[in-house]
Amino acid sequence: MNQDSAERIRHASSEVSADTSARILVQEHFAREHEPNDLSSERKAALKREIRELLKSQNAAIVAHYYTDGDLQELADETGGCVSDSLEMARFGAHHEAETLVVCGVKFMGETAKILSPEKTILMPTLEATCSLDIGCPIEEFSAFCDQHPERTVVVYANTSAAVKARADWVVTSSIAVDVCAHLQSEGKSILWAPDQHLGRYIQQKSGADMLLWNGSCIVHEEFKAEALKDLKRVYEDAAVLVHPESPLAVTELADVVGSTSQLLRAVRERPEQTFIVATDAGIFYKMQQQAPDKVLIAAPTAGTGATCRSCAHCPWMAMNGLESLRNVLLNKDQEILVDPELGRKAMIPLQRMLDFRP
Ligand code: SF4
Repeated sequence: MNQDSAERIRHASSEVSADTSARILVQEHFAREHEPNDLSSERKAALKREIRELLKSQNAAIVAHYYTDGDLQELADETGGCVSDSLEMARFGAHHEAETLVVCGVKFMGETAKILSPEKTILMPTLEATCSLDIGCPIEEFSAFCDQHPERTVVVYANTSAAVKARADWVVTSSIAVDVCAHLQSEGKSILWAPDQHLGRYIQQKSGADMLLWNGSCIVHEEFKAEALKDLKRVYEDAAVLVHPESPLAVTELADVVGSTSQLLRAVRERPEQTFIVATDAGIFYKMQQQAPDKVLIAAPTAGTGATCRSCAHCPWMAMNGLESLRNVLLNKDQEILVDPELGRKAMIPLQRMLDFRP
């Protein structure tokens, strides 16, 4: 594990409520595997060649999240796969003709792909890549919470297990969460929301919906700091501030744009400013720079006054997806996502509502 990784893991694990055993898993994984940036350019080129051939021979496609390494995103684009946010990943996988989808992201994304396409083989570079929101919302406790509030419509974020989705009335991603909850509010419904408390508060503020919140959080976005961001805004007076709504409310209140990864990307492409301060996972910089090469991107501070460290705002589980593990899973097919068919059928109902929803 290199120094950056060690720093990142220390940073990610310092103040959060997620299960400690999951963090140990991340550290053990990095001890075994090379991270993408550890590879020489020759090794990367050789792995990419091999992966391209394996994808073709196995009728497989890569479905990658914006937070994964740039090499994986490049490969997904080049080979007719997709790079997107979790809503578009779900849509793409369900409609693509490939027999096998290799989901580069975290476990709930693989599970969603399997629920939407039960006939397909769903592989992931590693099944150990999870999410603090998923870990922080175990089905037994969540189900008991729902049972205590039977009058409320249960709306869960996509970053949850298949079992939690199966217990919900609606699944949403950050790109449609406000619209869905405003729609439910207009129908006179009260909402039980899980698991991200910061996103829940943001939705509540925007939609005026009556929401009871689970207290989960994202270990990456929770680290963005409002006071340090104010200092940075004073240094870059002409910059627009882009914030993902998993960040604390004090940070979203400083934003010019609050939105999902796709919405933040669009802002960088279309807004007139030249400089952007970005509060979301650093993996997004690859696509932002690709789509708007002339724009200046600055990572929002995650600690201290005026901090501009890009490396610390990166999800340790997303970072588990690398070229070597991608090649290995295509060869060995040993990291396959399976979902109990009955559970999958139940989870499909709120997922389908999400896919069908038009604001
Ligand atoms: S960035 Fe946060 S929400 Fe996204 S997968 Fe990582 S821990 Fe989960």
